[in-house]
Amino acid sequence: MGSAFTLGKIFGIQFRLHYTWFIIFVLITVSLSWQYFPLAYPDWNNLTYWVTGISTSLLFFSSVVAHELAHSLVGRANDIPVKSITLFIFGGVAHMTREASRHGAELKMAAAGPISSLAIAGLFFLLYLGLQDINEPIAAMALWLARINGLLAVFNLIPGFPLDGGRVFRSLLWRFSGDYKRATRIATRVGQGVGYLFILGGVLIMVFFSGQWFSGLWLAFIGWFLTYVASASYRQAQWQLALQGLTASDMMTASCPVVSSDVTVSRLIQEYIFTGGYRCFLVTDGGELKGILTLRNIKSVAQPNWEVTQVRNIMTPVEKLKIVYPDQDILSVLEQMDESNINQMPVVSEGRVVGLITRDNVIGFLHTRSRLGI
Ligand SMILES: [Zn+2]
Repeated sequence: MGSAFTLGKIFGIQFRLHYTWFIIFVLITVSLSWQYFPLAYPDWNNLTYWVTGISTSLLFFSSVVAHELAHSLVGRANDIPVKSITLFIFGGVAHMTREASRHGAELKMAAAGPISSLAIAGLFFLLYLGLQDINEPIAAMALWLARINGLLAVFNLIPGFPLDGGRVFRSLLWRFSGDYKRATRIATRVGQGVGYLFILGGVLIMVFFSGQWFSGLWLAFIGWFLTYVASASYRQAQWQLALQGLTASDMMTASCPVVSSDVTVSRLIQEYIFTGGYRCFLVTDGGELKGILTLRNIKSVAQPNWEVTQVRNIMTPVEKLKIVYPDQDILSVLEQMDESNINQMPVVSEGRVVGLITRDNVIGFLHTRSRLGI
């Protein structure tokens, strides 16, 4: 989902922050410190508004982290490994290596988030009750946080996939029908339907309550977002299903010829790609593996420079390569590629390169499958 930067690890799970979060952080802080607190509590001084506003935003952010962490830890306890979580505009997205293989596990993992948000809301509400006569700014902060966490729980319980409620809904459909694919499809349709209802609601508000046009726009935007994530997650679920059980050796290109590192790109294209039909190369220097080369590398060179560029200048050098094993499952290979931001990995067996696996291999496979209507 675009650019995100790494915050650090909690319980071995990597947390990443999408840049949209900074916008949300500033918006929340400013609207709290400038509008909400001054209107609700007119007798504080300026510094108090800002300190309370910033602290509230930070604690809201921590609440979202706790929600995501609850999903991840419950998931992990149920054999659904979660390696990283990206926090973005509406909360978080956990990156799971694979979807749950049991409906019970999915139900628990999905429900853990809203339950933790409700629990956090409850704790903040207790804090508010305890402090309302003692410390007004902290009590005000606690009240706002109790409300927003309650809202977060309710929003996530909307039964449209891939929201938490949609996942709960899917796991129940799955449980009663025994059909994972169908359950996913129905939960996705409901997710899209809810999204369209939000858009419709937003438009109606803009038309009939012109004073509330901003709320209407916001609602429509959330609706658009819901329909978008529903379709995107559905596609992802489909390809995860298609790739389940396949290994690197099922999908690698085994015939990667060996070329010397001083071969020029134009010779490579003439002799190997046009006539030989090869798509990948092992680049060696005196018998030693120096790097690998795919069509992607070649695309990075402008045609006029093909004569003067040697493959050693454009290959992916061996230091930058991460290796996979023939029996490694393909979803974990893809995940490794994502993590290291690479497009190809040599498949190594007993110290020898036996093939090359690229993203293009996987995309090609999925393409063929969909053309065959599988
Ligand atoms: Zn959640």
